[in-house]
Amino acid sequence: MNQHYDAIIIGSGIIGACTAFELAKKGWKTLSLDKLPEAGYGSTSSSCAIIRTYYSVLESCALAYEGWHYWQNWQDYVGVRDEAGMIEYHNTGCLVIKTDHNHQLKIACDVMDKIGCDYRHVATENIADYLPGADTQTFHPAKRLEDEGFGEPTGATLSGAVFFPHGGYVNDPKLSAHNVQCAAQAHGAEFKFNVEVTKILRENGRTSGVELSDGSTVTAPVVVNVAGPHSSKINQMAGVSQAMKMSTRALRHEVAHVPAPAGFTEDAGVVYSDSDIHTYMRPERGNHILIGSEDPICDDKEWVDDPDKYDLNFSTQWKTMVMRAGQRFPTLGIPDTASGVVALYDVSDDWMPIYDKSDLAGFYMACGTSGNQYKNAPVAGKIMTAIIEASEAGHDHDSDPLKFHLENIDREISLEFCSRNREINKNSSFSVIG
Ligand SMILES: Cc1cc2nc3c(=O)[nH]c(=O)nc-3n(C[C@H](O)[C@H](O)[C@H](O)COP(=O)(O)OP(=O)(O)OC[C@H]3O[C@@H](n4cnc5c(N)ncnc54)[C@H](O)[C@@H]3O)c2cc1C
Repeated sequence: MNQHYDAIIIGSGIIGACTAFELAKKGWKTLSLDKLPEAGYGSTSSSCAIIRTYYSVLESCALAYEGWHYWQNWQDYVGVRDEAGMIEYHNTGCLVIKTDHNHQLKIACDVMDKIGCDYRHVATENIADYLPGADTQTFHPAKRLEDEGFGEPTGATLSGAVFFPHGGYVNDPKLSAHNVQCAAQAHGAEFKFNVEVTKILRENGRTSGVELSDGSTVTAPVVVNVAGPHSSKINQMAGVSQAMKMSTRALRHEVAHVPAPAGFTEDAGVVYSDSDIHTYMRPERGNHILIGSEDPICDDKEWVDDPDKYDLNFSTQWKTMVMRAGQRFPTLGIPDTASGVVALYDVSDDWMPIYDKSDLAGFYMACGTSGNQYKNAPVAGKIMTAIIEASEAGHDHDSDPLKFHLENIDREISLEFCSRNREINKNSSFSVIG
């Protein structure tokens, strides 16, 4: 193996693979390194892989709408056939319940108007057209299982919902990373698995490559941290954390895999987000659903100091989520045995991503993806490539943040919003919704 490259990418999850793909397309000789055995084996493989356009701030919605186009036209994006198979993207649309928590979706709809993304209001009496058998009483505020009144309606009726037709889910997120790996390899990118980066090398005031756990080194003038929940470890290795306003931390999260309630089938079900019961759901093959939590404040957050050591067993979190979902779907059975995934988000201080350079020349990061950036991976790969190319050509992205053109929706955004040195975005939901 040639030990010198133009760029080393640490991590071959979906965002790492997309970054390698975009750099390779631009002629960069890249090496992707991952300590796990295959692309997408890390947090990407646990993703619910929901594609949706509603977030709390304009830039996030614009990125997501731009990203939707790549999932919808996946074959065009990757440009190769992967012998392992190709992912399927199911454009089911997404139904989101209006609540005070999400400002009755007024902000989200205003943003959709600005970025030209469709939506339609759904009256309370029509919610069952999308969610058969749904009980439209309110259950807010969220409670813990042991709290008095858990599961009891709180006396009002939902005020309606909004249906966003540009949305759905990918059937196999791990395979999506492999599809992109193949696409990148077709442009000359190299990938190496079962290799752990243990040190970021420096020479003459800039990064010069990495050292691996076997003591060998690989040199490159550019190193990109796309290590998912390990991002803070890698930033510490590079010595860049102290100079950043934003930080990233691993957060343990469970996703429940349970039989679907009556009518919520793989063929007919939609992606659904409900901040009245603080859960989200999507259809899953075999007439099942996936249920995730929207992080109500009453739930303790399970921060994890060492992403290599965390409890992989299901806990009360699983049961609470399923029972909260059961408030809306009285026919939802609660299985005796928990199944689903236990995984880590890589959460930034305001639950929005960091796609940026660092104070160490040549060292870049795509991290802080906060449980909500799978959908943006193809755009993130392009953003990282733009930042890397401009910075390596001498542009100071800190003092003059790049503008990035979202080609599918023909809109320009300032990349200041995903800076490592931004102020905390107070318009964030401070949850997985972003
Ligand atoms: C339970 C769950 C549900 C989610 N649901 C959604 C969703 O529905 N929609 C959505 O948009 N987003 C979702 N997300 C978020 C999304 O999945 C992530 O943002 C995305 O997969 C992150 O991809 P990545 O490439 O940055 O990181 P990862 O997939 O975590 O990849 C990082 C890689 O870096 C490697 N690595 C780490 N340290 C080292 C080292 N020292 N040396 C070598 N390799 C290293 C790891 O082995 C790993 O493979 C979810 C996340 C989780 C955990």
